[in-house]
Amino acid sequence: MATYVIGFPRIGEQRELKKALESYWSGKSSQEELKKTASDLRKRHWVYQKNAGIDLISINDFSFYDNMLDTTIMLNAVPEKYKDIEDELDRYFAMARGDKTHKAMEMTKWFNTNYHYIVPELNENMEFKANTSKIKEELEEIKELGITPKINLIGPITYVRLSKVEGNANNIIEKLIPVYKEIINEFKDYTIQMDEPYFVTNPTNQDLELLEKTYNELAKDANIYVATYFEHSNEANAVLAKTPIKGMFLDFVAGNENSIKELVNTGKEIGIGIVNGRNVWVNDIEKSAEFIKGLTEAVDSEKVHIGSSCSLLHVPYTLKYETKMDEDIKSWISYALEKLDEIRVINKLVKNEELSATDKEVLEGNKIAISTRKTSKKIHDTIVQDRVSNLTEKDKHRSMPFEERIKLQHENLKYPILPTTTIGSFPQTPELRKLRRDYKNSLISEEKYKEEIKKMIAECVKFQEEIDLDVLVHGEFERNDMVEYFGEQLNGVAFSQNGWVQSYGSRCVKPPLIYGDVSRPKDMTVEWITYAQSLTNRPMKGMLTGPVTMLNWSFVRDDQPRKDTAYQMALAIRDEVEALEAAGIKVIQVDEAALREGYPLRNEKRAEYEDWAITSFRITTSSVKPETQIHTHMCYSEFSDIMDAIEDMDADVISIENARSDNSLLKIFKERGYKGEIGPGVYDIHSPRIPSTQEMVEQINAILEVLPAEKVWVNPDCGLKTRKWEEVKPSLKNMVEAAKEVRNKLK
Ligand code: GLN
Ligand code: ZN
Repeated sequence: MATYVIGFPRIGEQRELKKALESYWSGKSSQEELKKTASDLRKRHWVYQKNAGIDLISINDFSFYDNMLDTTIMLNAVPEKYKDIEDELDRYFAMARGDKTHKAMEMTKWFNTNYHYIVPELNENMEFKANTSKIKEELEEIKELGITPKINLIGPITYVRLSKVEGNANNIIEKLIPVYKEIINEFKDYTIQMDEPYFVTNPTNQDLELLEKTYNELAKDANIYVATYFEHSNEANAVLAKTPIKGMFLDFVAGNENSIKELVNTGKEIGIGIVNGRNVWVNDIEKSAEFIKGLTEAVDSEKVHIGSSCSLLHVPYTLKYETKMDEDIKSWISYALEKLDEIRVINKLVKNEELSATDKEVLEGNKIAISTRKTSKKIHDTIVQDRVSNLTEKDKHRSMPFEERIKLQHENLKYPILPTTTIGSFPQTPELRKLRRDYKNSLISEEKYKEEIKKMIAECVKFQEEIDLDVLVHGEFERNDMVEYFGEQLNGVAFSQNGWVQSYGSRCVKPPLIYGDVSRPKDMTVEWITYAQSLTNRPMKGMLTGPVTMLNWSFVRDDQPRKDTAYQMALAIRDEVEALEAAGIKVIQVDEAALREGYPLRNEKRAEYEDWAITSFRITTSSVKPETQIHTHMCYSEFSDIMDAIEDMDADVISIENARSDNSLLKIFKERGYKGEIGPGVYDIHSPRIPSTQEMVEQINAILEVLPAEKVWVNPDCGLKTRKWEEVKPSLKNMVEAAKEVRNKLK
């Protein structure tokens, strides 16, 4: 019985790798310095794991940018267009993030996490070839420490299925098998972990046939363990049981439906991933130990291993630096290092081994945390709970059907055909960031801070009136981030000091911690929005972040169903919606930028998610008067598979990402007879380019080929916070002109 982790974070507990990377990229340090930092970090992380009593310690989980990209290098699958770059590392970074003459490869989310990988670009003519230099280097390093590692590889099927493929993907997998075989042979004395998380997403029969064939070949004369995570992989478990793999590492948190029957019957070893690599709450150590003991009654205990549910990449490093966190909240949390302790202690309890003094301390602290979490007043608020249990159907529906209420809204708001608006934020300048920082660090008074923010709001409103926008916004100058801003003001949500998690490359995020029952003690945006409204006769749009997005970008408590937390969040934000309405705001936008990200990996679980996610949005937005207009915004352009849910949100207006040239997205709205009004972005805010009036006229005309003019709004495709004023001003001016030009033609 061994302890393992699927993988360890690499960015460094003080984000050392981030700093070293950015310093290298900006030309401030050499490649040697960067490599030295990387090597020091790897060693530090291996020693941490060794000292914590982890038996199977990984190599090749380190990456300068991303493991999928590393795999691309390992297989010599570098696209032609980068081959002119001599230096290996610079070529690698050009693929990851582009350089002066090369565009970066595409990046996308790793399953349902907030980690992004670099999407391989494969074609059948590629000459795949094994390149094991990275693995060999790490192997040499770890051997110096006297550790025999397991070697992590991304398996060929997951690798190819997550790629952009020209030609036949299955042929590419076939071509890759001998290359993988060669790599595996080279390291045949070691334990090899092959990550195949693709198999948690409803694999087809063809996928499964391929899986069997691939691992029949690869696992012969080798020590292969296949890892899946983020869900169960039951179809694959049954198939792999028939192949010569040694065993599987399975996720028993997100994938607690994992069945091990077939694997056990064929004598495979099983890794029970019981410590959550995706979330930060403490494991219930005694309960986990009991669970595993239960299993080992049926399975030879020699064949059971205990580990993390997935790579610890998705949680922060260590609580050591959380010096300001509330002590109770801190006691309910485990980051990567604390999770290593949990794994060790669970293992000892299962084996009935004697606990050391440290182990006893870990276990005692754990028991206290588990019991205080059940009762703490910081978590449990009966008023909030009662509100959720008293929710009725009425709370989930607008009081008047769309077709009727939209008429009242038009009377109330009097906007023209093809009304113009923006998505909410205006440029976040360095001066603005400094202002917020100074206020946070108490270098300036609240009075001074508010005065400065209000000046910016006033200028922003004036500009919008000047260019003749129809529905205005205040500009979101008071916000650092659309989730953090609200999280900081809500009960039940906390922030860490050093809870950084890698998002992509050197980029890290610090997700809020939703630890307790959520409520809104006081107004969050009313002062800003009403001030902005006081400056203009045009409608001012109130701007809020929706409940689902709040959850999807946070670490959400695991001691109650996600749905309950979502409903609490929905009610808290509803309170703000109502306060805005009471203060005279007639248009309120509730952004659900992350609705899509929360979708489950398994099709059979989608309906349940949609049910509570959409209901949450409706709880937030349904209590307003019929004449109050509800907007929502989403930053993506792929809606075909979630159209029912989008309709079900029952928003009056939805703004969405830039319509692609062929309008395929809009056609879906049309085909479905989508009833609400729609603002398909008429220009892409992700680029500094200033779109001309003419091109936006064309864009609007293209939209009108699909959608009736009465339903169409004209707006950019997302918030403007990352842009500069010099870009925003002419772009919006042109946009309004374009709308007017088309309007005139319509008359
Ligand atoms: N209202 C937000 C903004 O304009 C929406 C951001 C987003 O879609 N991610 O910045
Ligand atoms: Zn957006």
